[in-house]
Amino acid sequence: MTRRNYRGTDIQVSFDADLCIHARECVRGLPAVFNRGRRPWILADNAPTEEVTRVVEDCPTGALQYRLLDGSPGEQPAATSGQAGAVDGARAGDRGGDVTRLTNG
Ligand code: SF4
Repeated sequence: MTRRNYRGTDIQVSFDADLCIHARECVRGLPAVFNRGRRPWILADNAPTEEVTRVVEDCPTGALQYRLLDGSPGEQPAATSGQAGAVDGARAGDRGGDVTRLTNG
């Protein structure tokens, strides 16, 4: 399972393509931030943090998650069900985002 990170100034959004059902709530909800025709497809700084969190929370599958970077409460859990495990922090620069691989065990 691969989760890619998209870091903004105040918020980091992460995306796991394996969980995405392409329902497009994100793209319709906040096209300035979520645009599948652009690389990187998530630009977390393109809208106020509150709007980004609202749209991420509307993702029906947990494919999108966020973490506030000011250390305040309101961070989402890093993993949804079945994703517990170590993070190896591998990166992939060719797609415009960081990659975090979650492994069981
Ligand atoms: S809202 Fe979630 S499930 Fe729907 S397209 Fe966006 S990332 Fe995929």
